Amino acid sequence: MIIGNWKLNHLKAQTLEVLDQLIAGLGDLELAVAPVVTLLGLACERVRGTKLKIAAQNVFYASHGAYTGEWSVGHLKELGVSMAIIGHSERRQYFCETSESVAQKSKACLDGGLTPIVCIGESLSERESGKARQVIEKQLEPVLKINPPEKLVIAYEPVWAIGTGKNATPEEIQEMHAFLRAHTSTKTRLLYGGSVNANNAAQVLGVPNVDGALVGGASLEARSLLAIARAVSK
Ligand code: PEP
Repeated sequence: MIIGNWKLNHLKAQTLEVLDQLIAGLGDLELAVAPVVTLLGLACERVRGTKLKIAAQNVFYASHGAYTGEWSVGHLKELGVSMAIIGHSERRQYFCETSESVAQKSKACLDGGLTPIVCIGESLSERESGKARQVIEKQLEPVLKINPPEKLVIAYEPVWAIGTGKNATPEEIQEMHAFLRAHTSTKTRLLYGGSVNANNAAQVLGVPNVDGALVGGASLEARSLLAIARAVSK
């Protein structure tokens, strides 16, 4: 499972262009991309009838009500979105996302038929002070309290590896993913994210208990995202 997180990138023309290029090169590859929210409807229309899936970068937990600026699982389902990234470190850092709201959002997704991709990850100072596992455990606790682990997709994304070109080592990934597997289920899909590109994808995805990748920068161009997916499928 390879998911491209486009973050706040690509206006309409680029979004459609990259989607068309992905569709043309997709073959049997399993791929999803998460465009900006305002383009989700258009993106879903463009990929209809193809194997390319569309994910949202966020969703609110309530189905309706006085929550200015938010959108619900129902709104995403109506467009044809099939998954939602929840609790990305940028949302935790810039938009006050908490592990409790991540848990509620994940539950809303599962209740409404969307696959939640729950992002977790420690900062550099937390890793350097030996607290990485503790942080991950704390981020996961509220999520696992109200959600069946086998239904979740969990993306381990060390914050210090996101957008930095600095990859976690295979040993670091293996250690954390083994820990995550022990705390979840054999059926939980565990993704790794953090500076994955076409050159390191095969190595990262070869690590035990890594079931896929969440890709930021290298997902913006179809060529590199397809190269990652191909490297993995080999
Ligand atoms: C991300 O934002 O989820 C991510 C993994 O970004 P990048 O691949 O650019 O490190």
